[in-house]
Amino acid sequence: RPLAAVSGAEIQAPLIHGGHVRYANLDYGASAPALSVVSAYLNEILPFYASVHRGAGYASQISTSVYENARAIVRDFVGGRPDDSVIFTRNTTDSLNLLAGCLPVTDGRPDGDVLYLDIEHHANLLPWQGVPHRSIVAADTIAETIDTVRAELQQGGVSLLAVTGASNVTGEILPIRALAALAHEHGARIAVDAAQLAPHRRIDITADDVDYVAFSGHKLYAPFGAGVLVGRPDWLDAGTPHLAGGGAVKEARLDGVSWATGPARHEGGSPNVLGAATLARATQVIAELDQDRWHAHESAIRSFLVEGLQEIDGVTVHQIFKDTNPDTDTIGVVNFSVEGYDAGLVAAYLSAEHGVGLRDGRFCAHPLLKRLGLPSGSLRASFGVGSRLEDAERLLAGIRDLRTKGLGWDYVVDAGRWVPAH
Ligand code: PMP
Repeated sequence: RPLAAVSGAEIQAPLIHGGHVRYANLDYGASAPALSVVSAYLNEILPFYASVHRGAGYASQISTSVYENARAIVRDFVGGRPDDSVIFTRNTTDSLNLLAGCLPVTDGRPDGDVLYLDIEHHANLLPWQGVPHRSIVAADTIAETIDTVRAELQQGGVSLLAVTGASNVTGEILPIRALAALAHEHGARIAVDAAQLAPHRRIDITADDVDYVAFSGHKLYAPFGAGVLVGRPDWLDAGTPHLAGGGAVKEARLDGVSWATGPARHEGGSPNVLGAATLARATQVIAELDQDRWHAHESAIRSFLVEGLQEIDGVTVHQIFKDTNPDTDTIGVVNFSVEGYDAGLVAAYLSAEHGVGLRDGRFCAHPLLKRLGLPSGSLRASFGVGSRLEDAERLLAGIRDLRTKGLGWDYVVDAGRWVPAH
């Protein structure tokens, strides 16, 4: 099929480090491959790798400025307010756990509950188990889901609405601006888990009036090990220091501590300079992409894949909102299952016999998988910058073969995973 949108030079495979390898990587949603620019930048800054905030030496000064500069770059990327804190963490999970330690408390009692939907990734579900919380079931349409959230907020007593920007299971995008307005109308704040959204859509927390946003470098075309939390400084400056240790204090005495404010409060110990710097570099490249072309590219691949899968007998595509409203905006994620085959077996077959890498399982979203009637999991193809229509074609060919010819090889379960028997 012709796919005009894919012709943009800026979204071709060479952008991806190792993008020439003939392997259909359809697992961007788990971790996206590094951009070539990011990998080159890593090599550029490696010689100056030295302690941050502590040394007076030249390399230390460079390291410190690279690290601090990374905050400014990330703030720009999310459209942050000038006084927003930009705290570097390990990943989105870490960022949301950090936020859970910063919920407002009056006279030793939490000011309210955290409210979240059943469609969340565990990173935006489990950190709230240790604080007062309420969960609600998303409706089948976005409009009704907003009504459900409104009804719950009207009950009062919610301090924070924690919501995903885009589902890591279905790829469906939530209406962040509307949810932020709703939260604020009812005296709550909003935190957006943008682990999936940030690599696919421009975020503007000032325009959308979002209080906190969290995402990970490794899903945004940068290496593992760094994530970020950006947001209003008051809760963060009063909250429990996330990583108590060197750098997190103004003054430490044997009989007490005065904690630092700002990012330092939560970033005890030597920071991940290379992680933060490469994450920031990746945001610059992503921000420079022609957004319209990029979205058209991803949505063309998604439609091609969804339509192709739906044409295959015995294959079901799983979505929530898009089933009721085809105009629902989505990122490059497609979730499906193949009748009669365990998802893990299909994933092993696609990898071994077709060179297609995708994810199977419950995607750290057990409540959502249960709701979708998939207690033992499904398959997820996810893609982005550098993905090609051929990747989707290869996946479709593999599934068609499976339905018509069956498995080519024998597979066994080894250490809980399906693998070829030989
Ligand atoms: N939220 C969502 C929506 C995700 O997809 C993921 C990663 N699968 C996370 C949070 C957690 O990200 P990380 O593993 O980088 O902490």
